Amino acid sequence: MKLQQNLMRKTDKKENNKEFAGFMDIQEHFRDVKDVKVDAKSEREIFRNIYVEEAAFDYPITKAVLQKYIHSNIIPIHHYKDVFNRTNQHYGMQKQYPALILAIKSDPLLYKGPDVCQNFGFSNFYYTSFLLNCIFDCEYCFLQGMYPSANLVAFVNIEDFKDAITKIVSNEREPVYLAASYDTDLIAFHGIIPYLDYFYDFFSTLPNLYVEVRTKSAGQIFYEEHAALENFIVAFTLAPEEVIKKYEKYTPSLKARIKAVKKAIDKGFKVRLCFDPIFIDTEYESLYEKFYDYIFSEIEPGKILDVGYGFFRMPVDFYKRIKKQKSNSKLFIDDYCLIDGIVSYPTALQEEVKEKHFAILLKYIQKDKLFAL
Ligand code: SF4
Repeated sequence: MKLQQNLMRKTDKKENNKEFAGFMDIQEHFRDVKDVKVDAKSEREIFRNIYVEEAAFDYPITKAVLQKYIHSNIIPIHHYKDVFNRTNQHYGMQKQYPALILAIKSDPLLYKGPDVCQNFGFSNFYYTSFLLNCIFDCEYCFLQGMYPSANLVAFVNIEDFKDAITKIVSNEREPVYLAASYDTDLIAFHGIIPYLDYFYDFFSTLPNLYVEVRTKSAGQIFYEEHAALENFIVAFTLAPEEVIKKYEKYTPSLKARIKAVKKAIDKGFKVRLCFDPIFIDTEYESLYEKFYDYIFSEIEPGKILDVGYGFFRMPVDFYKRIKKQKSNSKLFIDDYCLIDGIVSYPTALQEEVKEKHFAILLKYIQKDKLFAL
């Protein structure tokens, strides 16, 4: 409550957002400090309520979280869905002060990658979610249409996830590509639960597994503390600053993300750049062209593993659900096409824009390293 009151006292919206961004993305808040530590104030106030499944209390992650957030209200529950799936929840309101729910994930723990996601040439494409929801609040995020709640569900049974991953990898003859942070941001969440610390050594034991962790975080501590792995890819989502300001609430600036990209490269990590989602709008038409040139004036193209490129798109059911909640969002008022259950821009328009963008991107990146969806 104290944080809420402090925030309300501030009249300058930008400053307010900045402080909130600091609250939400701990690494970004302290981005100029090399050894990021969560300060006592943040720890005390970050989650007012922490719900814990009765069966989850004994897991090491639960113990670590409860030890850290000693000032939060701890509320035992039978099953996370009792809280998460309640009816009449307001996603937008919850998003401002989400609760944390510690739970045990039951089968399935891994899913086949859907068609709306890029597989970067891997036919065995899976994704997994150690964490439901995300600390950022992108206006275009499909999670708003997928989940009934904005509360964060953190699964604590990591050994079960490891068993499931091992099983899939040993059953597949071809390499397995696993998106571990496609529908959340594990690196931004690292200061709260360092999931990647729990999994990193395990990933290194499975050379037939390629793990992608997607992030908008400017946090650098992860790259400082871990040695790069051959089968671990950090995929940074980058967008023009104007797009970030308009659609990617609480996320770090482009400049701060570029700093993190450089740090990851310096530390030898395999780095993917994702220009996804791309928005087609007369307002942004000229922005992207300058943006690509800027990115590759800052980041050496030869040091990038590859590039992902994709337009704004969303399953129609999610789109309809979000449109209902965000009746004043320009993004959800625009006209789109519906093709095979996916809402996006008309194909001819996508092709036209893609051609222009690729003419620039191909100055820097070889064609076989440019993956478009
Ligand atoms: S970073 Fe990704 S998962 Fe998080 S809110 Fe934005 S779009 Fe959603």
